[in-house]
Amino acid sequence: AVRMEGVDKHYDDFHALKKIDLEVRSGERIVICGPSGSGKSTLIRCINRLEEIQGGRILVYGRDLTAGSAAVEAIRREVGMVFQQFNLFPHMTVLENCTLAPRRVRSVSREEAEATARRYLERVRIPEQADKYPAQLSGGQQQRVAIARALCMNPKIMLFDEPTSALDPEMVQEVLDTMIDLAEGGMTMLCVTHEMGFARKVADRVVFMDEGEIVETAPPSEFFTRPQHKRTRKFLGQIG
Ligand code: ATP
Ligand code: MG
Repeated sequence: AVRMEGVDKHYDDFHALKKIDLEVRSGERIVICGPSGSGKSTLIRCINRLEEIQGGRILVYGRDLTAGSAAVEAIRREVGMVFQQFNLFPHMTVLENCTLAPRRVRSVSREEAEATARRYLERVRIPEQADKYPAQLSGGQQQRVAIARALCMNPKIMLFDEPTSALDPEMVQEVLDTMIDLAEGGMTMLCVTHEMGFARKVADRVVFMDEGEIVETAPPSEFFTRPQHKRTRKFLGQIG
């Protein structure tokens, strides 16, 4: 689904991603973890070209991201993204948030877009919130709207960047449950998260990053019991 080959990313003279090789196969669930500043968000953001890369290449469903704006447009339609801050439009209702992009970008009719949105709001278990504004919802509900909104574009892969880390603790699980449900439905997922229970439960592979590099990649059963690198062990010790 996604293939990163020798990807280099610089912010001026800071080397944020160093020769990253990563493949996400269709149907695979990958969790990325690592210390603050290790480049996790940068990596995720490169995949739909919210960030430019300076070396290597990124293929998304066979299309080269560096090939030009037509490829980028096509890729963005196939990639759903959920951020730490929910990034909902505050002046639009939940339903409007969910139908905007399908209507504008995919030229779906209002009726069809609303029917799809209600189906996904049902799936994330907040069908009754459709006519509310984001500020009237809890953080966990807002994040589930953000997930439903991404799903309304019918993405082939979902990228998550610490979707639960801005939430009050009691709301973390409801969002994780939504993500587990998606995973069990077969969605291809690349998730930056420190929720190791989630990683154990759904990840096919866990990727550990440090200082712009992928230090270690392993299935959760190995990653948590037999981490190979000192840096991984130190990190796992810190997050408990
Ligand atoms: P966190 O766990 O805190 O979210 P992260 O692993 O997501 O961290 P990134 O946000 O990818 O880390 O940042 C990686 C490095 O790149 C950091 O040292 C950061 O300061 C730097 N960086 C990120 N964005 C920019 C930017 N727009 N300009 C300059 N440097 C940046
Ligand atoms: Mg980050």
